[in-house]
Amino acid sequence: MDRLSAKERIEALRAELRENSRRYYVDNAPVISDFEYDALMRELEDLEAQWPEFQSPDSPTVKVGSDIDESVGPNAESGVRKEFIQRPHRYPMLSLSNTYNISEIEEFAARASKTIEGGFTYCCELKFDGTAICLTYRHGRLAMALTRGDGQVGDDVTDNALRIGGIPQVLKGSGYPDEFEIRGEVLMPYSSFDRLNAEREESGEAPFANPRNAASGSLKLLDSEEVARRGLICTLYHIPSGNIDLPTHDEALKAAAEWGLPISDKRRICKDIDEIEDFIRYWDEARHALPFATDGIVIKINELAHQRELGYTAKSPRWAVAYKFKAEQALTPLLSIDYQVGRTGAVTPVANLEPVLLAGTIVKRATLNNEDFIREMDIRVGDKVYVEKGGEIIPKITGVEETSRVPGAERPPFPKVCPDCGTPLVRPEGEARWFCPNNDGCPTQLKGRIVHFLSRKAMNVLAGDATVDQLFSMNLVRTPADLYDLKKSSLLLLEGWKDRSVERFLDSLRESASVPFGRVLFALGIRYVGETTAKSLAAHFGSIDALAGASRDELLAVGDIGEVIADSILDFFSKEANLHEIERLKAAGLQFQAEAAVKRSDALAGMSIVISGTFSISRDEMKELLEKNGAKNSSSISKKTSYLLAGENPGPEKMKKAAELGISIIDETALRSMLPEEEAAPAAPEKATGLLFREETEPTLF
Ligand code: NAD
Repeated sequence: MDRLSAKERIEALRAELRENSRRYYVDNAPVISDFEYDALMRELEDLEAQWPEFQSPDSPTVKVGSDIDESVGPNAESGVRKEFIQRPHRYPMLSLSNTYNISEIEEFAARASKTIEGGFTYCCELKFDGTAICLTYRHGRLAMALTRGDGQVGDDVTDNALRIGGIPQVLKGSGYPDEFEIRGEVLMPYSSFDRLNAEREESGEAPFANPRNAASGSLKLLDSEEVARRGLICTLYHIPSGNIDLPTHDEALKAAAEWGLPISDKRRICKDIDEIEDFIRYWDEARHALPFATDGIVIKINELAHQRELGYTAKSPRWAVAYKFKAEQALTPLLSIDYQVGRTGAVTPVANLEPVLLAGTIVKRATLNNEDFIREMDIRVGDKVYVEKGGEIIPKITGVEETSRVPGAERPPFPKVCPDCGTPLVRPEGEARWFCPNNDGCPTQLKGRIVHFLSRKAMNVLAGDATVDQLFSMNLVRTPADLYDLKKSSLLLLEGWKDRSVERFLDSLRESASVPFGRVLFALGIRYVGETTAKSLAAHFGSIDALAGASRDELLAVGDIGEVIADSILDFFSKEANLHEIERLKAAGLQFQAEAAVKRSDALAGMSIVISGTFSISRDEMKELLEKNGAKNSSSISKKTSYLLAGENPGPEKMKKAAELGISIIDETALRSMLPEEEAAPAAPEKATGLLFREETEPTLF
């Protein structure tokens, strides 16, 4: 690979990993499997090692995935608190280096023995597949619970932690340090997960893809009583060694168990690789009987003095490694195939399977992608097929057990006409999928577009598929703009609608007027314009009129926009019906202009400002404030930097670099003194998101 291709590939991999990391940690809705994610990460690590000149401190290879929701606008999920108070971690909360093969565990052991003088042992534990939590106990009482956040700063979820099974408010016995941290995982047992997803499906909400995502979403709920109802549990596995004076990790966990903390007994002290391998093999089988999800085994050097000797990389401890289990597979008969029409008209074949237990949940359906996939896999109805769960809610078919084939079973014919409206299907050149071209008449497409428009990541209006079906079948809506013409009197005539439900629905529609332009653009459902592309377009063009008037070259000048997307955008704005729809949505008060485009002043024009630490407003709000007043916000310090804006707890590296390059360091007060009067005061303290871990700012909980 030449230098230019390596650079391009590195950038593409970073963008893909960041996008998937956000979907996984913030949205709790991954779209690729962990295995695929880890393979992309490995490719990036290899390329960065090969081309050190392209290494970057912001690369996903050196930063842990962040669970902090930095989005702006209304809450991402109804009932989910968008902004928790964020507090710094005393010790960074890192990730674990991971592997899928034993030979890399041998390499880990060899590296450790090079540094460690004398003998050592390993403590092998289950790798619990939930979401990380850090608990602080002060004088035997729970004082604070933080999520991992971005590793440096986490969301304060103390109220919720108090409602999680097994987390004691007060410790038992004696001998615990006056103040200490203990870290572990919040998990959702399969039984709670199945119940929750059944409820969500019934109320028209998207089910969670897996118990990990459900645990993580539940930990960040606004309503602590709802957290209690979700049936989460907790298991703890790490006391930072600076917090405790015991010789081994295992003894630290034993002591924690005596203080009443939830510690798993499913761990073993191993002397060598053979014993580690036995433990891995045992749990690769036995884990299927556990009531919660595990995705591997964690192998830790047991002696705390040796852990200190080995230390950390920027992303993970050098004294631990995770062995990840391969995704589980199940073999089950294919009963029939459904052909589903999506909002863009694409027809997707979906397999109906004989229900089978896979990774703790019952699987009944799997995607068959497209006609070519069915042909290449040579799948026939009646075959036994291998199913695997990726990141998505719909599992994948990964193979066919041909020996199981019923003699004479025929290849399934792909439909020639739309299963919904009967229009002959077309397959555009270069497309793997067949499409129903009746975009403005096919009922499934029309309904699909409204469902998409209302969805959580688009306009976030409280309405499920059933509501859209009802409104559609009663001829009340045909396009999203019709929603804003709905009258209370006609909604009250619908079956099952009462005064309260009508009010809630109409309120939710009214609130959607404040959804930012990027999400409104995504809601319009322009083909190939996903969430991220919509955000980039909104930021670049600033308004729907500028976007609608953009030429092909102007569209191609936007990062991430290739020819296919550009042509799709041009096609969308060339249709009179779409322009008319946008005019109606504008009249309904929706945002068709980017917030950031509304410039407040030129007070900071021409300046390049790097920010570090926490401020009286969130970091995103601070960046926005800088941009609105004409400055450019950059992530790293160079000679061109005008100021380093340092909040509370600024990064030592940035402070050092600024001092070395002679860059002026200013605080928030100094910055605000340069701004117009209305921006001059910091945000009121109760709105602060970046409070420090200091005695006087600690909330008094008890
Ligand atoms: P990780 O989940 O691979 O491992 C680190 C985490 O394991 C720790 O932070 C801790 O929370 C947890 N853990 C569980 N049991 C433990 C134990 N006994 N001891 C110590 N820690 C224990 O790392 P991560 O940084 O949380 O996530 C990265 C991984 O997440 C990736 O490797 C990938 O598999 C997955 N991921 C997937 C996607 C996707 O789109 N599918 C996106 C981002 C990340």
